[in-house]
Amino acid sequence: MNVADTELVMGILKNKGYEVTDNIKAANVILLNTCSIRENAEQRIYGRLGNLKKIKDRKPETVIGILGCMAERLRKDLIEDKKIVDLVVGPDEYRRLPEFIDSAFSGEKGIGVKLSRTETYDDIIPYREEGLSAWISVMRGCDKFCTYCVVPFTRGRERSRSLESIKKEMVILSEKGFREVTLLGQNVNSYLDGGNDFADLLAACAEVDRSIRIRFTTSHPQDLSEKLLYTIAEHQNICKYIHLPVQSGSDRILELMNRTYTIEHYLDIINKARAIIKGVSFSTDIISGFPSETYEDHIMTLDVMQKVKYDGAYMFKYSPREGTKAFRMEDDVTEETKSKRLNEIIDLQQTISYELNQNLIGTEEIALVEGFSKKSDEFLAGRTDTNKVVIFPASDDINTGDYVKVKINRATSATLFGDLLEVVLPYKVLTTI
Ligand code: SAH
Ligand code: SF4
Repeated sequence: MNVADTELVMGILKNKGYEVTDNIKAANVILLNTCSIRENAEQRIYGRLGNLKKIKDRKPETVIGILGCMAERLRKDLIEDKKIVDLVVGPDEYRRLPEFIDSAFSGEKGIGVKLSRTETYDDIIPYREEGLSAWISVMRGCDKFCTYCVVPFTRGRERSRSLESIKKEMVILSEKGFREVTLLGQNVNSYLDGGNDFADLLAACAEVDRSIRIRFTTSHPQDLSEKLLYTIAEHQNICKYIHLPVQSGSDRILELMNRTYTIEHYLDIINKARAIIKGVSFSTDIISGFPSETYEDHIMTLDVMQKVKYDGAYMFKYSPREGTKAFRMEDDVTEETKSKRLNEIIDLQQTISYELNQNLIGTEEIALVEGFSKKSDEFLAGRTDTNKVVIFPASDDINTGDYVKVKINRATSATLFGDLLEVVLPYKVLTTI
């Protein structure tokens, strides 16, 4: 999401004549886009600011700005305590960034951290490097108020972009040769534009260019509709892959988290999705050590992982965030226990990923070719619908951006290896704009 927002900011600044440089010493303006989701994300930014101090000391006219969630959360602290920061601009005030930069050039500090109920940057075309994969932000903010989460406070209320503007962006991406688009929102399932829900948006995007593969994230289990499942099943170019954060396997913890579903309901969705979408797979987010989590609660998390068998998981230790409801609960699981449980969760996920990948040996997988493998130019690397890396021998007639069919002959927990069978969808042939 922050990569997408950074592209948006670069779009705004490009329109004002700014250029991007990859040489930090040459930069007149340095902007850090920040995340507040966990403590360590914020710590990292303080570390980066420490490094930037040297640049500011050497070239005091350099404008240094903090964007994103930390801006909203820590505005005063950042401007007053970190003397090198000239501007602090939150996620809904990026349009004013050129104005703030101008003032900063004349020595004024600037703070713009108001949240908006309507800003979606609908009319701004993000600046993107050439490539295969692009993000499109389809909505902003979140109204879910999970008790551990800072997002509703730092990014404000939920609002959706118009379906028409998203479709237009899809067309631009198609013309530029992008092959994969991820639709982004904190909870894409509550997307709404007039009478169009997220399933309508997904179908509309998939139909712009059937050679572009569509992904989306994140789905909140409460709002995932059957209509959405059928839409995924009916479109070949929508990835059969759902990121469905479970957070915990214990109903008691889920209630304390205000997740608004039970494990029974969650597993019901998984089963429904499996019945409707052939070959669908899932990934998830898990938090270990939420306040009052017992060993039994933790075992229930491991249990749900066994039941679903996720293809992948993002796994975190609970990190108390000021201002959230959970912040007022006692953070009573010790750091040591949080780490121990997290390690068990990670180990189990690795075992499951390994098993799932072993089951793919002998099957034929479709992959989008992303380029040479990291280790050798004699091999190409692609990614399957389910986001797994596939390595296969390079061949002169295969290009980046091709879809290929690969027969899997070996697998680790992270990577599939196989032999090329055929190119299935040459570049642009199926374009249907
Ligand atoms: N809107 C998405 C993603 C939110 S942030 C969703 O609801 O799934 C991504 C993940 O960060 C969350 O799913 C959650 O697992 C984790 N997370 C959020 N706040 C956290 C906190 N305070 N401590 C630890 N992990 C957290
Ligand atoms: Fe945070 Fe919950 Fe919203 Fe996700 S759905 S962003 S975890 S409040």
